[in-house]
Amino acid sequence: MPNGEPQVVVLGGGFAGMSAAHELARQLPRARITLVNRTNFAVFTPLLTEVAVGEIDLRHAAVNLRSLSRRVSFQQGEVEDVSPSDRVVRVRVGSSDAGLPEKQLELPYDHLVVALGSVTNFHHVASAEQHSFGMKTLEDAANLYNHILGAFELANALSDDGEHQRLLTFVTVGGGLSGVETTAAVNAFVRRLVLRYPNLHPADVRVVLVHHGSRLLEELGERLAAYTHQELERSGVEVLLRTELSEVAGDHVTLKGGRQIRTKTVVWTAGVAPNPIVDRIEAPKGAHGGLKVDPYLSVPGHPGLWAVGDCAEVPRVGGGSYAPTAQNATREGRTVAANIALVSQGRAPRPFRYSPIGELALVGRRSAIADLKGIKLSGLPAWLLWRGVYLAKIPSGSQRLRVAADWLLEVLAGRDINEAPSIRSTSP
Ligand SMILES: Cc1cc2nc3c(=O)[nH]c(=O)nc-3n(C[C@H](O)[C@H](O)[C@H](O)COP(=O)(O)OP(=O)(O)OC[C@H]3O[C@@H](n4cnc5c(N)ncnc54)[C@H](O)[C@@H]3O)c2cc1C
Repeated sequence: MPNGEPQVVVLGGGFAGMSAAHELARQLPRARITLVNRTNFAVFTPLLTEVAVGEIDLRHAAVNLRSLSRRVSFQQGEVEDVSPSDRVVRVRVGSSDAGLPEKQLELPYDHLVVALGSVTNFHHVASAEQHSFGMKTLEDAANLYNHILGAFELANALSDDGEHQRLLTFVTVGGGLSGVETTAAVNAFVRRLVLRYPNLHPADVRVVLVHHGSRLLEELGERLAAYTHQELERSGVEVLLRTELSEVAGDHVTLKGGRQIRTKTVVWTAGVAPNPIVDRIEAPKGAHGGLKVDPYLSVPGHPGLWAVGDCAEVPRVGGGSYAPTAQNATREGRTVAANIALVSQGRAPRPFRYSPIGELALVGRRSAIADLKGIKLSGLPAWLLWRGVYLAKIPSGSQRLRVAADWLLEVLAGRDINEAPSIRSTSP
């Protein structure tokens, strides 16, 4: 630590990494802070389902990391190896896929914040990874959007009613927040889209939500979950509770018990697992496979090593760990930065404690639910609140403007149904 200026490296520029880097720049203005991320943008995940149905342009759900802060040095690259014993991170820069040379950089650190997020958890269901769409990255959302449009174009060209039904059946797996939002968005989209195809019949459209639990949105209260269930069914979604899949094939899914649903489109939103790269870090892991941290967000036995967000298991007072949400990740990022600043000044760190402000979810066309500190809203008022809250939370003024413009354009000019350009993968 020459001249008392710590070298801090933050791995991952998602909600946790962005807030950690931003806060470090504020609290430790003389530190050398490097933020490493695979892409030069972060994905604002609450907008992903809107990208998947063409409601907003895919690039508008991305936040540029290079313009995060002048005090943060951004390095685009793939984290390949973390060695806590040598206090060094190895990052691959360049890309042979893009016709550019590749090189490995070694980044030494005094403090390392691991904020590498999570990946889709397919729970070992046969062929699920191969035949389903995820809903975690911009590429997932763009692929689903293009696939839906492709399915409609193909169905319109065929005269076989059986094929129409298979191509126009859309199955989502997982009844948590992202599963409900994805189902609601896809349902609203495809039921309007079918009206644009002269050879297709609205009755051929089928949208199914499969959930293993006894009710939707187990993270929310029963009243809002019941409203969501009712709202989805009212808009034509078949909600299958206490139902698990045994297989996802290229043209059908099989439910446990043997029943099959003929479909070409399965979206998998049934859980996440910590980024597998944390397996390569020689440090203790928690019950879900994330880096185990103490209440101060530091990895016990490894001074200078910290972990936050979906790749960490942060203990809650009273047992269990904090859920993998953007709300928690953002607060953990701020706390880890404050703790690195405290430790660098020879002071004691503070434990992480946070109660979420509430939950919001889209449940239909211009319909949402909200539970904010016990105040429960549903329908149009909750939808307006959803839009206002998430617009305000986009951490970039220019992106906020672009998203607001997309929303306005959809109202004034209708939805654009051109295929999206393909983009670089952001999946770990
Ligand atoms: C569709 C959807 C909707 C959601 N909606 C909400 C919501 O409304 N509210 C809420 O609270 N939460 C929501 N979440 C959950 C939330 O997105 C996550 O909990 C949050 O993103 C976790 O933040 P993170 O920083 O830990 O990880 P991430 O945001 O995933 O960031 C990890 C970063 O690490 C980078 N990375 C990964 N591996 C490497 C590597 N090897 N090298 C370099 N970089 C790498 C990734 O590119 C990424 O930028 C939603 C999630 C999804 C999928």
